[in-house]
Amino acid sequence: MTFPFSKVVTVYEQLENVSSGNKMREILSVFFKIIPKEDLDKVVYLSTGSIASECEGINFGMAEKMVVKAISAATGKNEKELTTLFKKKGDLGLVAESIVGHAEGKLFVDEVFRILHEIAATSGAGSQEKKCVLLGTLLRKASPNEAKYIVRILLNKMRLGAGTMTILDSLSIAFTGTKANKPKLEHAYNICPDIGVIAHSLATKGLHGVEQISVMVGRPIKMMLASRIGQLKDINEKMPGTFAVEEKYDGERVQIHYDGKKIILYSRRLENITEQFPELVALAHKNLHAKSYVVEGEIVSVDQKGNLLPFQVLMQRRRKQDVEEYRKKVPVCLFLFDLLYLDGEQYLHKSYPERRSALKRITKKTENKFVLARQIVTDNIEETEEFFTSALAHGGEGIMVKSTALHSVYQTGTRGWLWIKWKKEYAQELSDTLDLVVVGAFMGRGRRSGSYGALLCAAYNDKKGVFETVCKLGSGFSDEQLVEFPGRFNKYVASHKPTRLVVHKSMQPDVWFDPVIIVEVLGAELTRSPVHTCCEEGGQGLALRFPRFLRYREDKSPEQVTTSKEIWQMYKEKVKRR
Ligand code: ATP
Repeated sequence: MTFPFSKVVTVYEQLENVSSGNKMREILSVFFKIIPKEDLDKVVYLSTGSIASECEGINFGMAEKMVVKAISAATGKNEKELTTLFKKKGDLGLVAESIVGHAEGKLFVDEVFRILHEIAATSGAGSQEKKCVLLGTLLRKASPNEAKYIVRILLNKMRLGAGTMTILDSLSIAFTGTKANKPKLEHAYNICPDIGVIAHSLATKGLHGVEQISVMVGRPIKMMLASRIGQLKDINEKMPGTFAVEEKYDGERVQIHYDGKKIILYSRRLENITEQFPELVALAHKNLHAKSYVVEGEIVSVDQKGNLLPFQVLMQRRRKQDVEEYRKKVPVCLFLFDLLYLDGEQYLHKSYPERRSALKRITKKTENKFVLARQIVTDNIEETEEFFTSALAHGGEGIMVKSTALHSVYQTGTRGWLWIKWKKEYAQELSDTLDLVVVGAFMGRGRRSGSYGALLCAAYNDKKGVFETVCKLGSGFSDEQLVEFPGRFNKYVASHKPTRLVVHKSMQPDVWFDPVIIVEVLGAELTRSPVHTCCEEGGQGLALRFPRFLRYREDKSPEQVTTSKEIWQMYKEKVKRR
């Protein structure tokens, strides 16, 4: 028997009622200190509204209807009555809270955790009934507020607002006495994006334990990202001497892990996508010759003649059903560009030329569906521009310029200056594209009445761990996309403003959404604005003028959208050029 679950939910209730990041850190850091070491990882996962790290891809597989059934079975209340109550309250957690009987819960963290894992693991014939029974055992022992949070966790509706960065800050304060050690925790988290592992190492072995965390084949690593520049010639300033220039393929990033037996493919969001691409697993077995490795590349869809096709075509492969049918319909190829681990040795600290040459060494070119990314090494901007033109002609979206200096390490989870991207949109002075998360919507008028007319979009402030609005997006959508709005967005409607969203008081959409859906947006320019909160300073934020929708970015998670800092850099760049 371990830590009482009632103490965990008391903290949830406190968190639900605060919006200040500092207050959240204070509550969590005091709380983390009193938890027995063996329970800390579980409590930390639960605080993120889950029972494992994000990359485990836990899915409870229980629809609202089944949860209603389970509440009914556990409490003896009629299902119809519960459904009516659900319609009124809009939150099944609140329904459970109002129905479940005991004043005091009898649950412990390890038990809640174990049963939630059992629910997630139950599949196949009769699984829905088994899940209901398991949930019933929890609800029968739960107090009203415990029941509320159990139901919310199951339905993926925990909205406590404590993001990963807030939890890392709180762990740092709890176990090292200061927030100043957070960068060390963040660094470890980039190599091992599992907040439970970080918490457990810190509590049991201290900072030293966290610093020892290294690459483990089979556990995804947060990916290195690229910065953007205002003009191509700025490359020389950012990367003196020679640099590598590669095609920037328009597909999906993949990290391939091989431990000597099994191959796992991870997406940009660190989801396991192995089942989606059986042909790439086979090609990796055949073409990569090493005892174990972690490599990266871009998956691109191709037509029958081998011509590269855009990202949207590839998105059809995002499916769990009909994989075989779509494997034939949407064939793909892979361009390899990095190596992070080889035969028991970590390569993160090696320079890019070393990593690339090791990658080349282990890649056997047997067919053109699995090859190294096309590359030149140069110090010349004209040559870079020529390469860029040829990359576009080849179906790419631009180029990646990579430092070849001695210090050109693999910067996990970082958007630094060792990689620079240069895309078609920048070159055509069409201004910048931003990836933004949709946080609300305004109802439409005229042709769009009855549906959404414009979406409120936000960038991510990674320092503060909050989302900040930057535009209202109403154009660029096709008629089909407009029709599809309710189906896509309604499941994310929130009863109140998302906790981690900073919004100006005059910017009140008709509906709020949980920050889940990401859109790529093309804008004319960035300007100062009193009504948007992105990079707000002295009552003025930044707004993207004339935004146009380009595409949905299903490969990104909300915390991977364009950051406020990047938007500030773009704005400064524009001002400099005027
Ligand atoms: P974007 O929206 O421009 O694709 P992003 O935020 O997904 O950007 P960035 O780090 O800004 O990611 O751009 C790098 C992305 O470009 C990688 O994540 C990868 O998917 C893709 N890419 C295509 N070709 C290459 C390449 N040769 N080297 C590295 N990344 C490449």
